Amino acid sequence: MTNQVDLTTLVMRQKTFFRQGYTRTYAFRKEMLLRLQQAIQTEEKNIISALAEDFGKPAFETYATEIAILLAEIKFTLKHLHKWMKPKRVRPSLLNFPSKDAVYSEPLGVSLIIGAWNYPFQLTLAPVIGAIAAGCCSILKPSELTPATSAVTAALLQSHFPAEYITVVEGGAETSQALLQLPFDKIFFTGSVPVGKLVAQAAAQQLIPVTLELGGKSPCLIDETADLQVAARRIVWGKFINAGQTCVAPDYLLVQETVMPSFLEQLKKTIAQFYGQDPAQSPDYARIINDRHFTRLTEILKTCVVFTGGETDAAKRYIAPTVVTEVTWQHPIMQEEIFGPILPVMPFQNLTEAIAQVNAQPKPLALYFFSNSTQAQEQVLAQTSSGGACINETVSHLANPRLPFGGVGTSGQGSYHGKYSFDAFSHQKSVLHKTFWPDVPLRYPPYLNKMNWMKKVFRWL
Ligand code: NAD
Repeated sequence: MTNQVDLTTLVMRQKTFFRQGYTRTYAFRKEMLLRLQQAIQTEEKNIISALAEDFGKPAFETYATEIAILLAEIKFTLKHLHKWMKPKRVRPSLLNFPSKDAVYSEPLGVSLIIGAWNYPFQLTLAPVIGAIAAGCCSILKPSELTPATSAVTAALLQSHFPAEYITVVEGGAETSQALLQLPFDKIFFTGSVPVGKLVAQAAAQQLIPVTLELGGKSPCLIDETADLQVAARRIVWGKFINAGQTCVAPDYLLVQETVMPSFLEQLKKTIAQFYGQDPAQSPDYARIINDRHFTRLTEILKTCVVFTGGETDAAKRYIAPTVVTEVTWQHPIMQEEIFGPILPVMPFQNLTEAIAQVNAQPKPLALYFFSNSTQAQEQVLAQTSSGGACINETVSHLANPRLPFGGVGTSGQGSYHGKYSFDAFSHQKSVLHKTFWPDVPLRYPPYLNKMNWMKKVFRWL
């Protein structure tokens, strides 16, 4: 861990650099985004190797979910940045007649970005794109649980950016805590709900604005009108990509009881199609991040009735794609976010009852519903609250930079991606412009005989 004096110096150097104003120009922001784009492209092989080393992540998944998604985000930002930076004119109020009013987006300043380990490259760098676009400086603290990716991220940024603009501080919870004591202008945190609360508390001490990208149990509902084969494919993909260690993975399934037996068979068939009869041999299936999480998951597994999968290998931190049944809300697997390749399936009789079950839980980061009924789709969207939602799909809403990505309630605060990332690192400053003439005297004392005029003005508003 870097000591507190060094960390303070680092933040102060960034504050000084920020005040010089370079980061505010369009030309600078554009050049830095292009630089980041090129750095990611150049380091592609090293990034893929680092993730393979950290938790056996397949190259295809690393490219799609860590690299390509960042490159697409940079491209989108470059395309729109000039427009986003322009002040947005709004209609003036008659009360201020005459005036020109506009909303200016100004950079918040020096930001702290704390990342999680499950998509360790993408989750740390996606907010950086927003910070650069908004004109902010950044200090990144990647997760200590993915040391190879943390090292690649640090090397990549240190070789392409000056430390007074963007830099990486490696370390664990203690380093994070030390950073949280410093006078940042913005904190962007991705991680678990308990640590999110600590981050919010620390931010509150200095009234630092904070974005919290947290987790929770994301439900997935399947009714009897759904195409079961397609639903199974999309759910198995969304659940077992990254070996279930995805914040928006379907955490549990609620399946209408009339189609439960056939849907379970579809799940089993699809897992075999995707990963073969022995998924341990599949090059397309990742491993559990560390021994602590492996033990946590295998302890839960011991309490479950396995429908398919269930094999484990401690030496390789392997847990097969697993579906479990005969689950109740009191079962250990339903007490917290699973964050691994175990999928509990529970039946429901009718949609109203399924919605009530979802609504009895904290608001999730994502909600998925598979159904052919438009009316049922609208009912689920209208009667539930979640950070994001997909109809007849899982996970993919996060890949559209035109959609805000974030939680609600305990699953998070604020959002990012595309313009929402730019906004997350910007302050929306309201600006009213006046000329010296005319200077309407209605509001100035003495107020004698002005009341009726004032009332008329308010009536016109
Ligand atoms: P975590 O909360 O354990 O760690 C996240 C970061 O916080 C790490 O950099 C870690 O070093 C730091 N940290 C840990 N303890 C700390 C403490 N006491 N004080 C200050 N900082 C501390 O989360 P994780 O295990 O890395 O990630 C898994 C969780 O993150 C899951 O709940 C998942 O749903 C969530 N997540 C959310 C998103 C999202 O976009 N909403 C994305 C990925 C993961």
